[in-house]
Amino acid sequence: MTRATYRFREHVLTPDTGPDSDPWQYAMECKGCGQRNGSSGSAEDGTEWAADHLKGNPGHLTYREIITRPYRFEPGAWL
Ligand SMILES: [Zn+2]
Repeated sequence: MTRATYRFREHVLTPDTGPDSDPWQYAMECKGCGQRNGSSGSAEDGTEWAADHLKGNPGHLTYREIITRPYRFEPGAWL
């Protein structure tokens, strides 16, 4: 039986800014009731949604913004 030799390579995780990368996605969530708007490519959509949500729900004053952005491992040195 032969023994295989494996080589490993360092990889560095970086934000993916390549042409094939996914666009950033923004979503806004009400901390009061957990309702969330659909994610969108624009952060402004979330702030508009929150303003509308506050109009309908006067006590709901706190929100969290959820940002999804792509990452990619870049190959580095062989170990
Ligand atoms: Zn709410």
